Amino acid sequence: LMTGCGQDGGKIIMGTNAEFEPFEYKTESGIVGNFDGLDVAIAQEIAKDMGKELAVEDMDFGSLIGAVSTGKVNFVAAGMTIKPDRLENADFSDTYFDAGQVIIVKKGQTDIKSNEDLKDKKIGVQEGTTGDEAVSELGGSTEVYRFKKGMDAVLDLNNDKIDAVVIDEMPARAFVAKNEGLEILDEPFTVESYAIAVKKGDTATLEAINKTLKRIKEDGTFDELYKKYIDA
Ligand code: GLN
Repeated sequence: LMTGCGQDGGKIIMGTNAEFEPFEYKTESGIVGNFDGLDVAIAQEIAKDMGKELAVEDMDFGSLIGAVSTGKVNFVAAGMTIKPDRLENADFSDTYFDAGQVIIVKKGQTDIKSNEDLKDKKIGVQEGTTGDEAVSELGGSTEVYRFKKGMDAVLDLNNDKIDAVVIDEMPARAFVAKNEGLEILDEPFTVESYAIAVKKGDTATLEAINKTLKRIKEDGTFDELYKKYIDA
């Protein structure tokens, strides 16, 4: 017997990396098992419109595009930025969130005041992300410290093992809210847009996703979810 909102159409599997609050994270009382977040809530709307039950498959961020291109998951919702090399390996939905990388530093430090100051420093990033890419391109003697979880980068920053963390703005805010000694620089480091990825050529899933994104933007659902997860 099916449970949840899917009644007859079986399951649809969302691939994600649930270390990215407020988009996807683990909690005792999640909306799908232990998982919660804006992406999970959007995926639930997609599943509902398809008449299917949503399942969440949690994995390393760097495994997500592979998982969707081999059919292990039906789509990826992971605060994932559209960028050229990903478009070679997956198709992307309409964008649903304007985002970007920001710089987290320790309060009171004076070495890093703007983007230019990142060069030649020790910078923590989340492996395989656009933040990793942007920092890796700095060159010079910049040292890139790659972590599977953004939170682990933040812990090393707290312990003075690295000079800064470059990560997406919303998770950065969530991390800083939990670590009093940290702050985010005002100047954004990159400007990006999130979208949902499907297997190349899977137009049926892609069209269903775009249809739901359009619906939730028009009927107020997206605004409600935004208030719940982003403006909370
Ligand atoms: N937006 C970033 C990227 O797409 C990070 C996403 C994430 O860590 N979940 O690479």
